[in-house]
Amino acid sequence: MDEKYSLSKNYYQILDALPDHVFVFSEAGEYLEVFGGEENETGFDFKDYIGKTLHDVLSHDRATEFLDYIKKTIQSDTTLVVRYHFANETMLKLPDSFIVPDTLWIESTIKPLPTLVNGLKRVVWTARNITLRHHLQEQLKKLSETDELTGILNRRAFMEKLAGELHRYQRYKNDTCLLMLDIDKFKSINDLLGHKSGDQAIKHVTDICSKEIRTVDYIGRLGGEEFAIILSNTCLQQALEMAERLRRKISNSPCVVENYTVHVTVSIGLSQIEVQDDSSEQIISRADEAMYFSKKQGRDRVSIFNEDMHDNEIELAENNHIYRTKP
Ligand code: GH3
Ligand code: MG
Ligand code: MG
Repeated sequence: MDEKYSLSKNYYQILDALPDHVFVFSEAGEYLEVFGGEENETGFDFKDYIGKTLHDVLSHDRATEFLDYIKKTIQSDTTLVVRYHFANETMLKLPDSFIVPDTLWIESTIKPLPTLVNGLKRVVWTARNITLRHHLQEQLKKLSETDELTGILNRRAFMEKLAGELHRYQRYKNDTCLLMLDIDKFKSINDLLGHKSGDQAIKHVTDICSKEIRTVDYIGRLGGEEFAIILSNTCLQQALEMAERLRRKISNSPCVVENYTVHVTVSIGLSQIEVQDDSSEQIISRADEAMYFSKKQGRDRVSIFNEDMHDNEIELAENNHIYRTKP
């Protein structure tokens, strides 16, 4: 056998044994070479694609996206790492015999080749199936953001969303409101019916809130029986209506725990993101003040923050260990 032939055959065998799919594309998006991919569980070796272009085998948008990656890699002479998703509608045009997985996440490394062949610039595109890793990462992310008892966002994740909303507000000035909710006389539920029943009451309230809010809104548990809701693209009046609806719904939905029915109510404070806000804490603190105002006014009510609340914030009579030091 010709030595040159057997040498290249040897290299081909090695390349085909690579676990990931390896494609060599021309700058125009033509499949020049296809190797490997056995461990990728796509069940397809793509050899039939040689001589075809990205636009021959992919949806128009996907082919254009991939071609952009190739051009970017060549122009910048750098390696590009991209992650993308194939769902049924964007899947490759595969042979009928091929059983299409529901969804596929791929991570690709695209690297320019230093030499031209037949005058063509080329890239090596290595594609790895990362579907399992992707889902595990998503699951971990969700777990790290979720409050275990209620399934809503935990404090850290909620504060991140609020910071994001503040950022958005600073750019687009879209009306955004914040509700703070605190269960009224919650200690008595704990004291009389036990901590577990208290937990059930917390879940009862967050379930109602989650059902009432829109999918674009965020709800988070900030502490024991304190929750907050971000209402984006919502003016103060709409937010007030929403808060009232929530308050009424909670007040009118008895919570059954063990052999008891608990009439759960919440006090709500409402604040709006303002032009001078530069931290989420400021927005939270105003909603908090308004919420405490609701408590002082008799609970089971909604208050909108206003500057005058501040002066009345601390009931000195009830807190005789706190003294006013400034007028
Ligand atoms: P107020 O109407 O003024 O809000 O009165 P309150 O009794 O609700 O007072 P407060 O908000 O201070 O009570 C919070 C209580 O919530 C104190 C704490 O023992 C309890 N708590 C905090 N976290 C949890 C939890 O995860 N589960 C249960 N069951 N109780 C909790
Ligand atoms: Mg409370
Ligand atoms: Mg509280």
